Amino acid sequence: MIIPFPFHPFSSLAVILLSALFVLQCSTSTSTNDGGTPGDLPDQSSNRLSVGSSAADFIRDDEFSSLVIEIQFQGDATLLAGSIDAMIEFAQDHTTKPGGVQVLIDGPLPTGRADRYTFEELTAIEQQNRAFYNTDSALKIYFLIVDGVFDGAEPALLGKTYYNTSAAVFLRTILDQTENEIEETVRKKLETTILKHSLGRMLGLVGNGTPMVEDHQQDDFYCDEHTCLMHSSMGTVEVAEYITEFDSVPELDEQCMADLHAKGL
Ligand SMILES: [Zn+2]
Repeated sequence: MIIPFPFHPFSSLAVILLSALFVLQCSTSTSTNDGGTPGDLPDQSSNRLSVGSSAADFIRDDEFSSLVIEIQFQGDATLLAGSIDAMIEFAQDHTTKPGGVQVLIDGPLPTGRADRYTFEELTAIEQQNRAFYNTDSALKIYFLIVDGVFDGAEPALLGKTYYNTSAAVFLRTILDQTENEIEETVRKKLETTILKHSLGRMLGLVGNGTPMVEDHQQDDFYCDEHTCLMHSSMGTVEVAEYITEFDSVPELDEQCMADLHAKGL
């Protein structure tokens, strides 16, 4: 079940319909290959690679002509609809996918048993619940929206890209930065920043799958321009301290864009 963009996933009717459809999809996903032979489990190997290793698959269209973004919420850890729209727009602008960029909202997972999550716990949740893996023409990615925080990182992470096509967003950390959930403007900026920053990591920025045209790397695979979307602060609570100074969510700077163009965008 693929929901084409434009799509507003958070009308109550849409959520109900999506949940029902997802149950149908889930009931078959363990017994049929997603586009493959009945009886086989989906081939997950091409979605279990290191961050940035599929940069070319995002940036060009010779292997995959479309992009499907699967989003799974844990408990009531939902994103604002405008944040998802902004992420889709970013994906459309920074990949080559003539078949389109589509978003799919899974039925919600139960509330997590823990407040803090490790890498191992995130990958285990994905292993048990992710429904869609790459098929012949569609590159598929997975966002897990967690109702907790990442364990052990300092400064606290807003999100973590942990495979070539997988990332988690720590909604509890985002809400902790907005003082209260009514501050939707700040919340949307933080959500959108981490969603786009995570996609940038999957695109191989900086120097992690997409080579640099000129050296602008800092802190292992981040950009040295502090206003760029790929600066290391954009993935942590550090960005919350100055995000209100930006009229809009940070974008990729010239150096990062030059890298993507050199790779084939
Ligand atoms: Zn940059």
